[in-house]
Formats: sequence, C-alpha cells, structure tokens
Amino acid sequence: MLDIRPNCEHCNKDLPNTSTEAMICSFECTYCKACALDIFENVCPSCSGNFVERPIRPQKEIDTNPSSITRIFKPKDLEKTKINSDRFKNIPPEKR
Ligand SMILES: [Zn+2]
Ligand SMILES: [Zn+2]
Repeated sequence: MLDIRPNCEHCNKDLPNTSTEAMICSFECTYCKACALDIFENVCPSCSGNFVERPIRPQKEIDTNPSSITRIFKPKDLEKTKINSDRFKNIPPEKR
C-alpha cells in the first residue's frame, strides 16, 4: 500500500491525497510535478527511475487507510541532480 506522503521532498509543497500534482517513483519518492518533471526531468534524484502520477485514494478508503502524515523534506543538490538527470533522461525508464 502506498504511504501517500504529504509533501514534495524537494520544495516542501503540500501534496495531499487529493492533489493532482503528486508524482512518485517506484520507491514512492514523492515530488510535485514542477520538481519531478521540470527540475529533475523525470529522473528520480535518489534511484534514477521515472515518475508517474500518484493515484488518488478514494475518500471511503482513506477513512480506513489514511495517508501518511510524516513529512520528508530533503532538498536536493541541484548540481548533482542535473548531472544525474542528464545521464538518464534520454534513456527510456525500462532500459535504465
Ligand atoms: Zn516540489
Ligand atoms: Zn526514486
């Protein structure tokens, strides 16, 4: 089950369960669309995998399976992430 983390790990923007801007990698590193796509160019700074839109858990399910309230806020070193993104962004995710 996904944690559904409450914020962008890089810019700390709130990303509640109902947000349509939340992007996750396969490890559920969680970023807003601006960070995931514009800054990191669809290369996760931690695992180099791609991002997909986080699904929204329906209200009746969130009552029994609530989203995480643990904020992870670890801004990335943009020089390092740029090197990593340049290395992987043109390689399709299934070949990374
Ligand atoms: Zn962000
Ligand atoms: Zn990742």
